[in-house]
Amino acid sequence: MTARTDIFTSQMAALGLGSKPQSLINGTLVDGTGETITLVDPYTEQTLVVYPDAGAELAIAACETAQVAQLQWAALSGAARGQVMQDIARTVLSNAEPLAKIEALIAGKPIRDCRVEVAKVAEMFAYYGGWADKIHGEVIPVPSGHLNYTKREPLGVVFQITPWNAPIFTGGWQIAPAIATGNGVVIKPSELTPVTTVALVNLAEQVGLPKGLVNVLCGLGPTAGQAAIEHRAVRKVIFVGSPETGRVVAKAAANALKPAVLELGGKSANIVFDDANLKHACLGTQAAIFSSAGQSCVAGSRLLVHRSVHAELVEMLTDGMNEIKLGDPLDEATEVGPISNARQFAHVGDMVARAKSDGASVLSRDTTPDTGYFVPPTVLNGLSNIDHAAQTEIFGPVVAAIPFDTEEEAITLANATDFGLAGAVWTADVGRAHRVADHVRAGTFWINSYKAIHVSSPFGGSLNSGFGRSSGTDALMEYTSAKSVWLDSASTPRIAFGYVS
Ligand code: NAD
Repeated sequence: MTARTDIFTSQMAALGLGSKPQSLINGTLVDGTGETITLVDPYTEQTLVVYPDAGAELAIAACETAQVAQLQWAALSGAARGQVMQDIARTVLSNAEPLAKIEALIAGKPIRDCRVEVAKVAEMFAYYGGWADKIHGEVIPVPSGHLNYTKREPLGVVFQITPWNAPIFTGGWQIAPAIATGNGVVIKPSELTPVTTVALVNLAEQVGLPKGLVNVLCGLGPTAGQAAIEHRAVRKVIFVGSPETGRVVAKAAANALKPAVLELGGKSANIVFDDANLKHACLGTQAAIFSSAGQSCVAGSRLLVHRSVHAELVEMLTDGMNEIKLGDPLDEATEVGPISNARQFAHVGDMVARAKSDGASVLSRDTTPDTGYFVPPTVLNGLSNIDHAAQTEIFGPVVAAIPFDTEEEAITLANATDFGLAGAVWTADVGRAHRVADHVRAGTFWINSYKAIHVSSPFGGSLNSGFGRSSGTDALMEYTSAKSVWLDSASTPRIAFGYVS
């Protein structure tokens, strides 16, 4: 065993898991029976572990067990559900170190970022645990004089699919509002990063989450994922991932007449005006595209810069590249780790090569570590907004810097993609900041900031960035449906041969 597989095995043991990824069905860790999946350490490029795909059979078992557990969970008081969720928040915090360590090892994300994401997961359970006894309907003053009230009811079992770029974060993000509102869950994390989602639910079960309420499938989309989408018990599909897979999932859900929430990719515009504090804009731009090695759905991958400061900002960015600490995700000092997997590494390389052939000057940091799927922080200069690299999600630390001349042009360019997830503006002019925020198509928009997020604030996109909303009270709406109840309090019921009005 290498030192890295030792770390893997010891952190798995610290989290109460076996030596390889296993699905968690009805409180029991079980092996799949499907094809073999290999997890590779993106820093050493060596195999960490292999495990079998959960397959359709486990997916069916997961849906069935969630259906039974959900009825009992929904029958509890909101306060009782909330109490369990506060306990989950605490256990996540007290197990933060092994959770962060194993995430860093498998996903290749710097340990410091993993710690922040684990803390955010605890915050999600605390936040939605607080909502669990505050979800109620309305009394509606209908003209017929009936007492008409609404209730917000759980959907039943929901199926959640999450990607590899922020595994425990996206898992907690979707599980917490789902169970706060009384639903059962089947969740399939990416086959490349399944472990922290299993660990999260396993820890939660030890502090009172009923076994079987949340079931985790370690496996592939076309097998385990497809079977769960089609299962009769599943009432809604929540998908976080790429637009390409989002289309496949949405079609499968539509075919089974199930609603879906799609949280997909982006090509977000980070707009810098000539009156901006350029030092702040440069730091914000680095954070927007180089943090997490650009593997963030909200990455500021198009830098739209006023022509008069374009050259200066690009120079500041390239100067700053060599200061960024690239390295082992487990190293405390590392700010940017490798790309998370070989497939994505190849995609980013292809995108940069294509940009070069489209005429871009590729301005990259000089060095990267000797091993690992590292892409150096890169600015693509000289592209136009219609070029491939300015229109396609790269999902790596690569930004296209594009000049503009007027506010109107900046807004037009920002909106000239098929995405609508996020964006930002850097300016000292308050009026302009609000005008740009109003007119850029984005579910999240930052003014003199980037990547500020909180579980209390809604998140989501439009067009190829998906539809539906996560976070905040919007997620409570996504995970419940309204029931309208009518009561006739008249001494003689008002009965009409048709509508009572
Ligand atoms: P992906 O689309 O390749 O995979 C996402 C998930 O879908 C995985 O769990 C995968 O196993 C599953 N899947 C694949 N085929 C399936 C099928 N036929 N049926 C059911 N499930 C299937 O995405 P990825 O490469 O893991 O993640 C990167 C993408 O995720 C990027 O586009 C990024 O922008 C997006 N993302 C979006 C958000 C958001 O909130 N908008 C957040 C994080 C990541």
